[in-house]
Amino acid sequence: MSEVRTLKVALLGCGNVGAQVARILIDDADALAARTGARLELQGIAVRNLDAKRDVELPQELFTTDAEVLVKDADLVIELMGGIEPARTLILTAMRHGACVVSGNKALLAQDGPTLYEEADKAGVQLSYEAAVAGAIPILRPIRDSLSGDRITRVLGIVNGTTNFILDQMDSTGAQFADALAEAQRLGYAEADPTADIEGYDAAAKAAILASLSFHTRFALEDVSCEGITSVTAADIAAAKEAGFVIKLLAIAEKLVDEDGKTGVSVRVHPTLLPREHPLAAVRGAFNAVFIEAENAGELMFYGQGAGGTPTASAVLGDLVSAARRIVLGGPGRTETTTGHVPSLPIDAAVTSYYIGLDVADQPGVLARIAQLFAEHGVSIEIMRQTIHRDADSNVESAELRIVTHRAREAALAATVEAVRRLDVINSVTSVLRVEGV
Ligand code: NAP
Repeated sequence: MSEVRTLKVALLGCGNVGAQVARILIDDADALAARTGARLELQGIAVRNLDAKRDVELPQELFTTDAEVLVKDADLVIELMGGIEPARTLILTAMRHGACVVSGNKALLAQDGPTLYEEADKAGVQLSYEAAVAGAIPILRPIRDSLSGDRITRVLGIVNGTTNFILDQMDSTGAQFADALAEAQRLGYAEADPTADIEGYDAAAKAAILASLSFHTRFALEDVSCEGITSVTAADIAAAKEAGFVIKLLAIAEKLVDEDGKTGVSVRVHPTLLPREHPLAAVRGAFNAVFIEAENAGELMFYGQGAGGTPTASAVLGDLVSAARRIVLGGPGRTETTTGHVPSLPIDAAVTSYYIGLDVADQPGVLARIAQLFAEHGVSIEIMRQTIHRDADSNVESAELRIVTHRAREAALAATVEAVRRLDVINSVTSVLRVEGV
């Protein structure tokens, strides 16, 4: 019987995800060897602090602070340190020394992906990062492999569990944003500094990765137009609910033709109204989901846990087994096709519907003036609802108008809102939110 080969595995980082990856590598060694055709031997774990308490009990002799030595002598390197440096240099060093790399580092991939992909191509090794988008959910491999014979036209993703938890909390309890954020922090869904999540930066990094794979073109973070959820109010949520919508922070990548007839991809992150019957509306709490529209497959949805040590470790192990099989069987790395060459389009070129909330004077002719302004900008109104309020102290009546438009170019919608804002009968524009899925 031929001897089973051993592949040396280096793990960089032993935090939430790394500790679970180490546990599975050790506990499931036999099963992984059977599936891979080689034993995956954990050679060492690089950390900052050798004395830190770990989530999992692991042999102390595996730990080192010298990550560089570890990566130079490995067949497979798993990078779960996070951050840009030293992760970037260590990944490049690993690949130059012939190792395949698995990473969950969306920030690094969105910022410096092209350098890493080029180095992987040059070195003939595999760079995999399933865990970087939507944690446990197998989404990158289905896009890259299963759908490689189809044409993806649109991707809508709930790819940040923290913001989904906050918006869901606001929707189900009527809480204000600050209270829902405090609850998310109390339950460990949001970090002490929640900026990257609530401003949409984390989702934007994932949007760049999803767009790159879906449209066979490398999109970077600066190609993503990004708006977070900090200005979403309880009143917005309540009004959306009343109109049959739910508000979600979506990462969107879609193929469009702009006004000059140029085909491109709009990549953006923003709070979005979705009809309550849309499949993404049912994604509650901190769960993630990605909804894909493809020319031949039609609509597909991928749903699951977008974070957490153990769920994310599942995605890391999947990549590891796949890379190890490639080493065992030989052949080129699983490379990305970047032959799409579609430009990224500015947010102005996006085609969407708007939900607009207006506080207006309760006078005759107001509705007609507003409707005329929309018509002048070529934006047609789908729904217009008016509610009258009377101020108990002043006895002055005002009206609240809620408008949902048909799909139109973002630039035309933005210009319409600006023109409406200047009308003397408008007290204030209370909300402007984009609508998808109608
Ligand atoms: P984490 O808990 O903060 O752990 C980071 C680990 O990296 C720690 O063990 C730390 O060592 C080590 N480390 C950091 N800088 C280092 C350095 N300069 N040299 C050596 N070791 C260093 O992070 P995590 O939550 O596991 O996330 C890891 C990666 O997975 C990140 O890229 C993250 O974006 C991605 N990811 C995480 C999740 C999730 O649910 N957590 C989901 C998807 C993707 P010490 O322990 O000694 O400080």
